Amino acid sequence: MQATTRAVPVFDGHNDTLLDLAGSARSFFERSETGHIDLPRARAGNLAGGFFAVFVPDPAPEAAAGGLAADSGLASSIAAGGSIYAATATMPAPMALEYAQQQSLATIASFLRLEQTSGGQMRVCRTAAEIQACIEAGVFAMELHMEGAEAIDPGLDMLDVLHAAGLRSLGICWSRPNRFGHGVPFAFPSTGDTGPGLSELGIALVQRCNQLRVMIDLSHLNAAGFWDVAKHSRAPLVATHSNVHAICASARNLSERQLDAIRDSDGLVGLNFHVGFLRPDGGRDPDIALDIMIDHLDALLQRLGPTRVALGSDFDGATMPAAIRDAAGLPALLAAMRTRGYGEDIIEQIAWRNWIRVLRQTWGE
Ligand SMILES: [Zn+2]
Repeated sequence: MQATTRAVPVFDGHNDTLLDLAGSARSFFERSETGHIDLPRARAGNLAGGFFAVFVPDPAPEAAAGGLAADSGLASSIAAGGSIYAATATMPAPMALEYAQQQSLATIASFLRLEQTSGGQMRVCRTAAEIQACIEAGVFAMELHMEGAEAIDPGLDMLDVLHAAGLRSLGICWSRPNRFGHGVPFAFPSTGDTGPGLSELGIALVQRCNQLRVMIDLSHLNAAGFWDVAKHSRAPLVATHSNVHAICASARNLSERQLDAIRDSDGLVGLNFHVGFLRPDGGRDPDIALDIMIDHLDALLQRLGPTRVALGSDFDGATMPAAIRDAAGLPALLAAMRTRGYGEDIIEQIAWRNWIRVLRQTWGE
């Protein structure tokens, strides 16, 4: 074994840390035994930053009926379950706009307050150059992502406001329907071909995202929606946290045709660490060899090429392989890449440089 490999920083395409923090008493600035990311564990695992998802849980039935906010106990009940992927394949009814906006504002405020209370250790980044500067300076880089566009009104006014607040990435759908399109259920085995494509409003949303240079995240969108984005978007096609369907036949993973379209657009796929999207049997036992993650990376590299593969852990929202466990365990994944013969250049590309590449292309700076 070579003992002298320098620490490679990791920039991560997806976490659900805001949701987990809302449902627990832990602080992001103290090392915890629960959840997957806090600043001490990020430092221990060389996690340099990533996309923080704003996710609105489905309201309790009475809140859905009245369009009112549920209390934060909803987030805690989901967080206590350990994984938002415990959801069934049954699709909930679309939620009320007012509820989604109220919940989103609270979550975005919690995101901004992380920066405010970090004493300069964390920074909200609005350009790829800012992310790169943070990585080089050892400041934790925070990106604002929205997982599901439920909080965006039909006039798309909210999108402009969110963009001004720092939003740089939008998943049109989480795994449920909304006014813009349809997400895939957590079905296995299943293709992503699970329903209709984008609505007219969904297509307008794609075009407005292009104008504002907000990245569109294809993870969770169904196949018809994917192809509508591919047809109407001028930006590189990006799936921030999805894997290879040919290895794990989850509806959440990407078909060979989808991977080819991502390659042709010079887009990117972030490897999702959720065991249910990695394991060929679709099971959720976290005791898996990290080789299965490298199998997915191999397949992505083969299909997409070396500049279009990255990481999108799904920390704090999914079941991690036991050998990684949390952000402090990221070096185990990099070590598994080395064991399989990956050189330092390709490891750096996967770990963070490819994210900088595609974000520079998408955001324009
Ligand atoms: Zn997700």
